[in-house]
Amino acid sequence: MKFDPAKAIQQVQQFGEFGGVNPSITDSSTFTFLGAKEMLDTFHGETKGCFLYSRHWNPMNKYLSDALAAMEGTEAAWVTASGMAAITNALLQLCNSGDHIVSSITTYGGTFAFLKNYLPKFNIDVTFVNPTDLEQIKNAIKPNTKVIYTETMSNPLLQISNIPEMAKIANESGVKLMVDNTFSPMIVSPYQLGAHIVVYSMTKFINGKNDLVAGAICADEEFINSLIDVSSGTSMLLGPVLDPLRSSSILKNLNTLHIRMKQHSKNAMYLANKFEELGLPISYPGLEKHPQHELLKTLMNDGFGFGGMMAIDLKEADKANRVMERMQDKGIGYLAVSLGYFKTLFSNSGKSTSSEVPEDVQRQMGLSEGLVRFSVGLDNDIEETFEQIKQCLKEEGVI
Ligand code: PLP
Repeated sequence: MKFDPAKAIQQVQQFGEFGGVNPSITDSSTFTFLGAKEMLDTFHGETKGCFLYSRHWNPMNKYLSDALAAMEGTEAAWVTASGMAAITNALLQLCNSGDHIVSSITTYGGTFAFLKNYLPKFNIDVTFVNPTDLEQIKNAIKPNTKVIYTETMSNPLLQISNIPEMAKIANESGVKLMVDNTFSPMIVSPYQLGAHIVVYSMTKFINGKNDLVAGAICADEEFINSLIDVSSGTSMLLGPVLDPLRSSSILKNLNTLHIRMKQHSKNAMYLANKFEELGLPISYPGLEKHPQHELLKTLMNDGFGFGGMMAIDLKEADKANRVMERMQDKGIGYLAVSLGYFKTLFSNSGKSTSSEVPEDVQRQMGLSEGLVRFSVGLDNDIEETFEQIKQCLKEEGVI
């Protein structure tokens, strides 16, 4: 039977303490114990269902984590104050000084900067590989490799990772496969395909409102418990916990994620087909010409489409800027970074969310200076939106 992440969330039943249909927010940083022994046992992780301190667990964070674990089919999850906190904490938990990571070269710019510029401080070495070249990944593994890191759908090039094959390589080498699934929640369930750890920026599609920053780590219970171990857990000791007030609003938004993903995908597919008809250099995983279109079809859950992210290569940064400014003036969406919002967002990746990546590496990964990344919104009349975009492209001499 196919995995259904939307059904898995729907089946989660969580009541408030007075029977409220939304679980109550526990607005407390610390928790009382009936006895001193229970407190000590909780410190040592020996009690179930007891809360100690909200940097460790808070009931509202637990509700959200349980719902996310259901969505991924993992035993557990832990929610963080940002997507970067999820990525950095999980990596730092897996690696010690002297260890090695094999990472896709095309990742979110902040992730690339962490891997390339920050980890050397801890003597952790990273080899960057083309995420679509399994031989390169296999050959990059060393005796001290601890993690293979990739994004399901890469930011911003939208390459698709072959998660089952990467998991095979990871298992054969005794390393963990960690996947950032920020661009494709519900569409792909990396843990079901063999990944060991799934991370999210919930700032994006999962929350969908661009009113907060948050992240999540989904994995087996042993790994999640190791992250929040009071004496050695990276998350417990660095402390990037999500505020429970934010958890509460994300949990409510999570329950509409399946509907939103379908609409993002429907609108993006429509625009991608139209852009293709116009002869524009469009990259969208739903198009047959996308190099990993067939692969993605084998990885996808049923019914959520190919996602809301697409990119058009306008070749020159100046032209990209003029088109984006015109689209914003016409009210098509916003010239802004980030994604997964109800309105369409567009940005020039090389000059924004990938600007941490040096220009020579941008060229090496195939990122053009004129690439405009679109996060397609929930527009009810996407035909009209297309006509407006077409007008902007005409006015700027692109078509
Ligand atoms: N992963 C991806 C794919 C992203 O696009 C981003 C942010 O743009 C992040 C992680 C980082 O998330 P956050 O901004 O929530 O820290």
